[in-house]
Amino acid sequence: MSVGPRMNWRERGACRFEDPELFFPLGESGLSLLQIEQARAVCHRCPVLRECRTWALRNRECDGVWGGMTAKERRAAAGRGFGGRGR
Ligand code: SF4
Repeated sequence: MSVGPRMNWRERGACRFEDPELFFPLGESGLSLLQIEQARAVCHRCPVLRECRTWALRNRECDGVWGGMTAKERRAAAGRGFGGRGR
């Protein structure tokens, strides 16, 4: 998949060598927790974690693990004022 210039960071993501489904658990509890931890481990060794997390927060990405954060964690961060579109 090609990405636009604003998402060039994705081409350097550690997840490009992983099964994309790893980053989209069916839920955030039970057996999905193991999958989330596996995805998070990839994110935590990713050179573009910061860019990915910022993008997901700013774009209110509502599904999947991005930048080591689940959708629930991103919603909580947004509620605390992170991830706004303004600067
Ligand atoms: S932080 Fe995680 S989801 Fe984002 S590019 Fe890196 S490995 Fe992929």
